[in-house]
Amino acid sequence: MQKLQQLYEGKAKKVYATEDPNVVIVSYKDDATAFNGQKKGTITGKGAINNRMTNNLMRRLEAAGVPTHYIQELNDRETAVKKVSIIPLEVIVRNISAGSFAKRYGVAEGIVFDQPTFEFSYKNDDLGDPLLNTSHALALRLATREEIDLIHTYTMKVNDLLKGFLKEIGIDLVDFKLEFGKTADGQIVLADEISPDTCRLWDEKTHEKLDKDRFRRDMGGAEEAYEEVMRRLMGEQ
Ligand code: UDP
Repeated sequence: MQKLQQLYEGKAKKVYATEDPNVVIVSYKDDATAFNGQKKGTITGKGAINNRMTNNLMRRLEAAGVPTHYIQELNDRETAVKKVSIIPLEVIVRNISAGSFAKRYGVAEGIVFDQPTFEFSYKNDDLGDPLLNTSHALALRLATREEIDLIHTYTMKVNDLLKGFLKEIGIDLVDFKLEFGKTADGQIVLADEISPDTCRLWDEKTHEKLDKDRFRRDMGGAEEAYEEVMRRLMGEQ
């Protein structure tokens, strides 16, 4: 599969056209940003880890009945995916309090919820990705009610599956962000990435942070944390 012109460059990935109008190639960068792009840096090796981890999880989710944009891993950093128009909703699920939830509601991090929370942010950097509910999403015509229902169903299934995959390797899934897209034929599929950039992952025993919070909070050891998650997920290689 040939990479043609670059269509888009985001904070962590570039997207290229291919000869097939329904297929694009995603290329993962080592660039890291936080706080809506205000903090910038590099996590060496992150691009390759996020590419391979996302693909590993997308294949397992697809096999379990969640439609995804994944087509084929091309090399360490690049993957062919279905071309979609991204629905501008960041879908966030939380199993344990952390990050903006802890801040917004004035609670400690680490409270295990009786059931997961489900929330949307409006994917809009200029506005700082504000929190919004279903009626707001409908008012803004970001998606239809049927699409939102489907996104909710898929997301809850993804949470159950991911929690299980990660528990097997001694990791608690604290929270994560998903994005969905619409294919040319109107199908809603899971898109974007599932990686330590987009999930909070804590070691189940030590509660050590194995995710982008190490970069956000200047804790050091981000590279090692990403490598550790990869090593546990894929085995030594
Ligand atoms: N998240 C993300 N991209 C964003 C915002 C959040 O991938 O633009 C992920 C984040 O890594 C975490 C979860 O969504 O796993 C919940 O993030 P939160 O709302 O707590 O925001 P943060 O504290 O990261 O600002």
